[in-house]
Amino acid sequence: MINTKNPEPKTENRTPSTEYPAHISCLQLIKKAQAEVTRLDAEIMLSYLLGVQRAGLYIYEGNINNEVLKKFRIFIEERTEGRPLQYIIGKTEFMGYEFAVTPDVLIPRPETELLVEKAIEAVKGIKAPVILDLGTGSGNIAIALTKFITDCKIIGSDISKQALFVAKRNARLNQADADIEFVLSDLFEDLAQTKYNLIISNPPYVASPHIRGLKKEISFEPRIALDGGQDGLDFYRRLIKDSGRFLIKEGFLMVEVGFDQADEVKTLFKKSGFINIRHILDYNHIKRIVVAQWIG
Ligand code: GLN
Repeated sequence: MINTKNPEPKTENRTPSTEYPAHISCLQLIKKAQAEVTRLDAEIMLSYLLGVQRAGLYIYEGNINNEVLKKFRIFIEERTEGRPLQYIIGKTEFMGYEFAVTPDVLIPRPETELLVEKAIEAVKGIKAPVILDLGTGSGNIAIALTKFITDCKIIGSDISKQALFVAKRNARLNQADADIEFVLSDLFEDLAQTKYNLIISNPPYVASPHIRGLKKEISFEPRIALDGGQDGLDFYRRLIKDSGRFLIKEGFLMVEVGFDQADEVKTLFKKSGFINIRHILDYNHIKRIVVAQWIG
């Protein structure tokens, strides 16, 4: 049984033989870990440490050295304290691509894949579309778009320098850096005056009073990427008010919204002179995306 209460042994080369028998197998290690974390988490952490695919764990015949055992114990401890798995292994998958994630960026959510899919549909037929991703975070939306839209030019902006650092790293990792320019800006404030075919955003949308009530794991994520003000709608107000100046006639503004926000966001669009305002349901039948076109 792995004892997470004990502090790490101070001597570097002390063998953890008191915790693990010599020549322990992956299967045995995972079985032990399951006392504290899910099997899936244990598999993902161990395969990361050994540099093998998850499926390869059970036929792994290499030596599991002390370094790996030690790190595995630390990972299990972090996981039981609520640290998201993606921050522990420093990466996640989005739209089939790998993205580095650090606590400076929100972990890309599966719902946001739908936002990317709908954006791809929206610009279908537009030649060499110019797209703005506001609050790009890890760069997941911007980078995924370059993979599915030919000849697009994308600007990804964020108020956080640290987030842009991660986004740039991800663009290089996914060979998308030639198609994206990253800009440090608080929404539109420091952006050059350009007209876009599409502005896309997954802004912070959690109502400030609700943040404390979210599950433990979310407390490891950057508050700046989650907190949408008192009613969660602050960023939609600013985005919708200012985006007309940055959209071509009939250009799209497409946003992800919280589970109960679509109707209010649609009202904001209406008040600002947008047309063809509609919501899109996600796979849980939640109105997850609101999209509209600028009247011009
Ligand atoms: N979807 C995130 C959550 O699960 C919120 C993301 C956001 O604020 N844009 O809380």
